[in-house]
Amino acid sequence: MSNYNIETKCVQGGYTPGNGEPRQIPIVQSTTFKYATSEDMGKLFDLEASGYFYTRLQNPTNDYVAAKIAEMEGGTAAMLTSSGQAANFYAIFNIANCGDHVVSCSTIYGGTYNLFAVTMKKMGIDFTFVSPDCTDEELEAAFQPNTKAVFGETIANPALTVLDIEKFANAAHKHGVPLVIDNTFATPVGCRPIEWGADIVTHSTTKYMDGHGAAVGGCIVDSGKFDWMAQAEKFPGLCTPDDSYHGITYAEKFGKEGAFITKCTAQLMRDFGSIQSPQNAFYLNLGLESLHVRMPKHCANGLAVAKFLQESDKIEWVTYADLPGDKYHEVAKKYCPNGTCGVVSFGVKGGRKAAEEFMKKLKLIAIETHVADARSCCLHPASATHRQMNDEELIACGITNNLVRLSCGLENAEDLINDLKQALE
Ligand SMILES: *Cc1c(COP(=O)(O)O)cnc(C)c1O
Repeated sequence: MSNYNIETKCVQGGYTPGNGEPRQIPIVQSTTFKYATSEDMGKLFDLEASGYFYTRLQNPTNDYVAAKIAEMEGGTAAMLTSSGQAANFYAIFNIANCGDHVVSCSTIYGGTYNLFAVTMKKMGIDFTFVSPDCTDEELEAAFQPNTKAVFGETIANPALTVLDIEKFANAAHKHGVPLVIDNTFATPVGCRPIEWGADIVTHSTTKYMDGHGAAVGGCIVDSGKFDWMAQAEKFPGLCTPDDSYHGITYAEKFGKEGAFITKCTAQLMRDFGSIQSPQNAFYLNLGLESLHVRMPKHCANGLAVAKFLQESDKIEWVTYADLPGDKYHEVAKKYCPNGTCGVVSFGVKGGRKAAEEFMKKLKLIAIETHVADARSCCLHPASATHRQMNDEELIACGITNNLVRLSCGLENAEDLINDLKQALE
């Protein structure tokens, strides 16, 4: 599949049925798998043979879909997780332990910020947050001898900053650590971070990939490019024997292409168990089959709505990187030349109260803690996803208290604009 274009990978990647086999990927609704001998089973446990034994670790349906996403992102291996939160937690915890440090972009999803700044901090992992607009010197100054990774979002939810992936990749590699990119909003249809130097790519598949508000899920993709063994002293988890897995050294046994995902499955999925259900993986695959058709429509609706809001005298500001003059317009043209996404942020004149009043009046666009759905929806982050933050932390994440995040769905653009118009009036 690797020589096909992204549209073909969306439709046919990951699963090639043999003669007489189901055309659509089968849902393997089974917790366990049968073997003839204990020796056969033992080989699986020793990672000497590949195969399935228990769905908490791996399931064929999940693997078809993960393989498709790996092809779409241009990676060598991938795994599905139960949510985007689990994907980002695993991606970082697979390489950073208690006493380690991670550099993260400050404009990231509220749930990820909480995971890093509060929960993973309790686990002894420290994070330094840097602005996506930081200078090379500021970025350089964020690194410590115990830094194990750099993290950022291609298009930040909800700040809509667009990351200069190459700049962050160069800094990470200079310090011998991988760049982890959450590519949820751009999707591999809009941007493939691995082509710009990212080493690990994560997704909340709950968003555009599913695209129908049907199933929560996540994914981790390995580029297969990071040379763990060249940084063996930094990554003992990958480069020294794993006592909990019969003394396997992942980077030796599975190489650059497979070590990261194998360790993540064998250790973290085994111990934490945040597996995606095969049924949800099936729904996710239905979404992926039309991702390349839906994304241009989301982008077109986003641009039409952003242009309307920009003209309105009831709106203080609009953030949408596809708008000429947006702070991130040039970066977006480089990384997402075919459009960013359907999410537009704007500030309603009159502050927090005006934003809440305006949202109450919307008829077609629903208030939801969701984005990237076929149905348009909106959210006031200061009173919802980011309500645990004080004003100072909000500003650091690129959020003001009158910010409304509007996710343009697949409806008619004029209908969306008319709904906004009547609510603003
Ligand atoms: C939603 C989201 C997440 C978390 O994903 P869930 O599937 O809700 O757990 C992580 N990163 C980004 C950019 C998101 O938009």
